[in-house]
Amino acid sequence: SGTIEIKGLQKVYESKKSRFEALRDIDLTIGENEFLTIVGPSGCGKSTLLRMVAGLDEPSGGSLQVDGEEIIGPGADRGMVFQGYTLFPWLTVRENIEYGLKLKGVSILERRKISNYFLKVIRLESFDKSYPKQLSGGMKQRVAIARALANRPRVLLMDEPFGALDAQTKLEMQEMLLEVWEKEKTTVLFITHDIDEAIFLSQRIVVMGAGPGRILKEFRVELPEG
Ligand code: ADP
Ligand code: ADP
Repeated sequence: SGTIEIKGLQKVYESKKSRFEALRDIDLTIGENEFLTIVGPSGCGKSTLLRMVAGLDEPSGGSLQVDGEEIIGPGADRGMVFQGYTLFPWLTVRENIEYGLKLKGVSILERRKISNYFLKVIRLESFDKSYPKQLSGGMKQRVAIARALANRPRVLLMDEPFGALDAQTKLEMQEMLLEVWEKEKTTVLFITHDIDEAIFLSQRIVVMGAGPGRILKEFRVELPEG
């Protein structure tokens, strides 16, 4: 599971005074367990597209489905990680990771098992009782990824998650994300304006352009033999 199907997607931002066509005729299918990156300049509509897949914004036309079901609002089947560190500051690292599980009514014992596993995956076992403000930017994003994955989402939606990090931390995070993706087998839709990042992360890359936001082309990156 984890197939995303986008057909004829349109988005127009309208107010009394203005009308802005942000996306026109977006057609895109993302397969099960695929890691797809959308790259394009700032303002071409990447975040708008991702927000609609997340269910945080409504399309003006077209259809958006996950595993054949029309997307209506946010849901636990879609985990999200954004650039701003969106951790709950009043919760510890472990409590942040367990947050969604607690909402779902998962037992303490089961929650512990799952958070232990993800603390290990993101290599922050010894920070389980720390609060977000005690962590570096890279560490916070690792927790955000663990929190999103703890719910076992069918798809992971990422909007420039490493945009605020320095080059070295960014590379470590990208490597960790690929490692987690290979282990967890989840569909990833990643957006960035950074083509190097897109090429490093994905074998399939979709290029968007502005005026109105649309898909310009798509290409595949070959892995070296062996
Ligand atoms: P990107 O993520 O590629 O930088 P965005 O999706 O954030 O692009 O924005 C695409 C375009 O839509 C931009 O011109 C932006 O100003 C406009 N836009 C985004 N959100 C809104 C909104 N809520 N109301 C009006 N215009 C918006
Ligand atoms: P990003 O490029 O990361 O999407 P933006 O600065 O474009 O960030 O958007 C941040 C927020 O501001 C979003 O919620 C977006 O919907 C809103 N926004 C962006 N452009 C406009 C706009 N022209 N009018 C109203 N809201 C906007």
